Amino acid sequence: MKKVLWQEMRRTEVEQAAKWGGVVIIPVGSIEQHAEHLPLNTDINCCFSIAQRAAELIDDFPVIVAPPIWMGLSMRHMGHPGTISLRLHTFIDVLAEVATSIAAHGFKKLFFLNGHGGNAGIVNSMPVKLMNEDRSVPSCIAYTYWRLIDKELQSISEADYRIGHAGEIETSLQLFLQPDLVDKEKASWAPGALGDPAKGTYEKGQKLFEAAVNAVVTAIRNYHSGTLDEDITWRKEISADFHRWVPL
Ligand SMILES: [Zn+2]
Repeated sequence: MKKVLWQEMRRTEVEQAAKWGGVVIIPVGSIEQHAEHLPLNTDINCCFSIAQRAAELIDDFPVIVAPPIWMGLSMRHMGHPGTISLRLHTFIDVLAEVATSIAAHGFKKLFFLNGHGGNAGIVNSMPVKLMNEDRSVPSCIAYTYWRLIDKELQSISEADYRIGHAGEIETSLQLFLQPDLVDKEKASWAPGALGDPAKGTYEKGQKLFEAAVNAVVTAIRNYHSGTLDEDITWRKEISADFHRWVPL
């Protein structure tokens, strides 16, 4: 298997990938309570796993996955044990400084892949900040992974029909990605959950994961080839998140 993780590369390999016009995916997640049955790393594990698999599947140009940004904006979950949250401006600075460092090594295309609903508004606005305000990154786009598979999510789901929180969708993904960390006995609604964890299955998780990987591969290919209009993309994403976000 080819090397795709930034932190496992040598500096000469990074240099070469930048010269060949590589795309760098920056996974962004959270460490926060996910009811009583899912691990705290659910959000970052989902988007990091999707990013890693997508990068492995692209052979004709370099795709690297940056070290995951483990923590995000999780203030609303601080009432439950285990949650670790950054403050708004710390989070913005972390995203900007990671992206700026990567761009400084010659990468011209950065792809934020977010896995936590509470981060979406900020992650989706990073192209504006980095390209217009900071002028430090030549090009970047931002997606929240489940927005790329809305159709598949609707057809696979039997109960939730949206990402929710520790509900059917995330429980399914975790049963597929890290089953040893899921407490199946506790997979039912608890305070802090949104959706129906009992409807989560390994099979649904596998289908959702494969759909998300395929969608990310397509988005990266279109971004790399220049057929994806990054300006239109982030505009759509921002308005979708601002209008559809439902507080817990
Ligand atoms: Zn989550």
